[in-house]
Amino acid sequence: MKLKVKMVLNSKTNIEATFEGADFQDVIRDAGVLLEFDGKCGMCDKEEISLVTRITKEKQYKYTEFLCRECGARQPIGKYQDGSGYFLKSWEEKFVGTAQ
Ligand SMILES: [Zn+2]
Repeated sequence: MKLKVKMVLNSKTNIEATFEGADFQDVIRDAGVLLEFDGKCGMCDKEEISLVTRITKEKQYKYTEFLCRECGARQPIGKYQDGSGYFLKSWEEKFVGTAQ
């Protein structure tokens, strides 16, 4: 079955995504990263969120995350190791240190 999810990302952007799975439970699990997202920053409560993907210099890893435009906090989206889907991690404050 298919499940279409529409969500408001910020005042300028709405996104619409279609998830497909064998049954209802499968589809809900796949769509979880959007369904579980509550539309606001977990640090400052503002609703100006961007969805971004960064790729490391070596192009080995991709990081996708919800990013707060107000305070710079981010909520990373993790990928299951078996490749079966994605999940939401906890909000993290803006990174201010230096990379190791
Ligand atoms: Zn914020």
